[in-house]
Amino acid sequence: MNSMLALLQKYSVAGPRYTSYPTAPYFHTGFGEADWAEALAVPAPERGLSLYAHIPFCDSLCYYCGCNMVATQDYSKTQPYLAYLDQEMARTAQWVDTRRLVRQLHWGGVTPTYLNPDDIRRLMAMMRSHFTLADDAEISCEVDPRELTRAHLVALRESGFNRLSFGVQDMDPAVQQAVNRIQSEALIRQVLDWSRELGFSSINLDLIVGLPKQTVASFSRTLERVTEWAPDRLAVFAYAHVPWLKKHQNLIKEADLPDSATRLGLQQAVNEALGAAGYVNIGLDHFARPEDELVRAQLNKTLWRNFQGYTTRKDCDILAFGASSISQTADVYMQNEKNLKRYQERIAATGMAVERGLKLSRDDQIQREAITRVMCDLELDFTAFGSEWGIVFADYFADALADLRPLADDGLVQIEAQKISVTPNGRLFLRNIGMCFDRYLKQAARDQPRYSRTA
Ligand code: SF4
Repeated sequence: MNSMLALLQKYSVAGPRYTSYPTAPYFHTGFGEADWAEALAVPAPERGLSLYAHIPFCDSLCYYCGCNMVATQDYSKTQPYLAYLDQEMARTAQWVDTRRLVRQLHWGGVTPTYLNPDDIRRLMAMMRSHFTLADDAEISCEVDPRELTRAHLVALRESGFNRLSFGVQDMDPAVQQAVNRIQSEALIRQVLDWSRELGFSSINLDLIVGLPKQTVASFSRTLERVTEWAPDRLAVFAYAHVPWLKKHQNLIKEADLPDSATRLGLQQAVNEALGAAGYVNIGLDHFARPEDELVRAQLNKTLWRNFQGYTTRKDCDILAFGASSISQTADVYMQNEKNLKRYQERIAATGMAVERGLKLSRDDQIQREAITRVMCDLELDFTAFGSEWGIVFADYFADALADLRPLADDGLVQIEAQKISVTPNGRLFLRNIGMCFDRYLKQAARDQPRYSRTA
């Protein structure tokens, strides 16, 4: 415990989560609508599509929130927004080959179930009018259990959704009070019962560690409840306290935040409780049942990371719609205008709202693959990697191997002649391991924190 705590303190530095590489701070405004239109028009018949819709509205503000959201009780704001989403999809469909099947579709970002049941049906009908969904598409939605009715879930199910992800976070009343998100056990039980009865095939629960007032004992009770509810997957995120980026996080008293020893205890409680309940730790913050396709993909080395976390759909281009959403083709990232008003004005003008983006160089792609392999496979074979990319791994990544050496000395990775592997202790430090391959980060000034701390 003490040596892990020392490691946690040593390696707790600002670092990215690598849902993209290069990471979003390196997207630039020199990338515009013509660049995005060009990227969309590149023929890629072998690649499927993954659609994402960002619904930016929320009823009330959770103080820990890191999302780009608009807290409002004024439902009328959704109506023009849905019309703009429709316009954006129509414009995008003019550029992309819409015979490519949609293999994955996700609504999220903030609270899609802010939409009433009629508008849930309406938005899905819009998406289906512009794109063709594969019969076996994975169709998922993030759900806020508060304010949710059975009618919302019926609308989602009838629209084709087969996966749900519920924000549970922490069941302790003191923690819920401290973050302004009150949701009872009875409420969570009710929405899970409805979901199962309606036939959703996969249920994910999100938890957060590092919230104010959290203790190992209180969070262990949350873990007990959650494992009783037996979701198919769990994502246990570490709270990112970045009040210099998210002003409302100042509503959280820093004195109430758990210290390093408690954070480590929380992480260990998660690993023990979920391990004992039979969940497999995919890496970083995701857990799944052994029969889940994420676990199978990890075993087959086909797991990938994107803006939604770990995914089995590597070979899909992500077309993301709505304010602040991020799209991705094989070698391009594009982020939409974040401000809701400006997003709507730009869609009204051109049907596009490109704020910034990036075309990846070959070097970017090689580094992205190395980071992704480490974070998904928890190992990296130099020979296989080198022959795939036409490089001599030890030469190309000499700097990364040198930077990994201290982590190897601390028992976080094992470096062999032809391979590196992440040790069980190293799983807590995957972001630090990924950072060794990140040439952008190495060039950046270390004293400008852009990211949340790694541990
Ligand atoms: S429900 Fe989600 S998006 Fe809305 S304020 Fe809470 S954390 Fe943020």
